[in-house]
Amino acid sequence: MENRPFIYLDNAATTSVRPEVLTAMEPFFKESYANPASIYQFAQNTHKMLDESRETIANCLGAKPQEIYFTGGGSEGDNWAIKGVAYALKDKGKHIITSKIEHHAVLHTCEFLEQQGFDVTYLDVDEDGLVTPEQLEAAIRPDTILVTIMAANNEIGTIEPIRELGAVAHKHGVLFHTDAVQAFAHIPISVEEDNIDLLSASGHKFHGPKGVGFLYIREGVKLPPLIHGGAQERSKRGGTHNMPGIVGMATAAKLACEQMEKNAEQEKELRDYLIQRLEQEIPYVKVNGHRTKRLPNNVNVCFRFIEGESLLIMLDQKGICGSSGSACTSGSLDPSHVLLAIGLPHEIAHGSLRMTLSEQNTREEIDYTVDSLKTIVETLRSMSPLYEDFVKNN
Ligand SMILES: *Cc1c(COP(=O)(O)O)cnc(C)c1O
Repeated sequence: MENRPFIYLDNAATTSVRPEVLTAMEPFFKESYANPASIYQFAQNTHKMLDESRETIANCLGAKPQEIYFTGGGSEGDNWAIKGVAYALKDKGKHIITSKIEHHAVLHTCEFLEQQGFDVTYLDVDEDGLVTPEQLEAAIRPDTILVTIMAANNEIGTIEPIRELGAVAHKHGVLFHTDAVQAFAHIPISVEEDNIDLLSASGHKFHGPKGVGFLYIREGVKLPPLIHGGAQERSKRGGTHNMPGIVGMATAAKLACEQMEKNAEQEKELRDYLIQRLEQEIPYVKVNGHRTKRLPNNVNVCFRFIEGESLLIMLDQKGICGSSGSACTSGSLDPSHVLLAIGLPHEIAHGSLRMTLSEQNTREEIDYTVDSLKTIVETLRSMSPLYEDFVKNN
């Protein structure tokens, strides 16, 4: 990444497409443009690559290729899994359990189902953003049909105990879905060991292209289609295959899964260095999310007496891309539902900054970022009457 004009610390919002991924995609825009559903020889290569891509993704999860269904991204996978189970099992029960810190693709889907007569329990989380198996156990009822808890949170990076949560769901004969959009290809996941029946993921969160993802559906779990149409994806997801996207996503998954340990080590080191410098060099900083059960690339902090929006604008002027709340909520002035759920008061939640790294970031970039933040935080606090009062009284 030579000569980047900016420092990109927003990899939870989206990632850059790796050069190898772009190279793998290119033929499917050019000479290999055939529809994989066609029977002539010209379509053979596309068909073969569709199969191979499915296998590659399945291998990253310890799944079978026929359990992988290609989608148009993470939001579609979440919608399909939750609405699918709801529609399939509505005669068995209408109760769904999720958490208060899910992505809006899950939360808004659950709210939509509530309007249709489903009953949803939104589990609280502790101050680190964790859901416990005991809490889940207590919430399960005879009419519970689905538990959907994310593998890792997109704002504060907390990794949920999905293996234990899945085990609780299964003990009660309830299906377990996890939104693994932030976790897949970043931390190890095994659909068998982690007790997962349904898992959604998205290409653009691991250096693949945007607008493509997949849903893992355990063999034997019967979901109606979300997108009705042709016979693609075993008649469960209509629509001509996004071949460049699917091949790109599979290439990105293969590389990310092969290099997972190395990338995670590198990111963790930078993450912990960044957190350590912020805590040591800037007063009144709070780290959000669990300290160790945390995505390797996630840093989320609150600076008291500061507005996240002003912080972002001033960081942008220094060429640094970060985020306040999540990408979906920036633009609105409501504080993030995740930060409120971990118990932060409104005024502190407003001063949050999320910096999400990739293996492409360097120590120099982190140093420049901390140095910039020190100046920015000082400037913003010097203009804050709240801070002035606070300093006077302490
Ligand atoms: C980004 C994200 C999504 C949405 O994925 P898209 O591919 O952008 O639709 C869903 N859940 C989580 C946790 C995410 O981070």
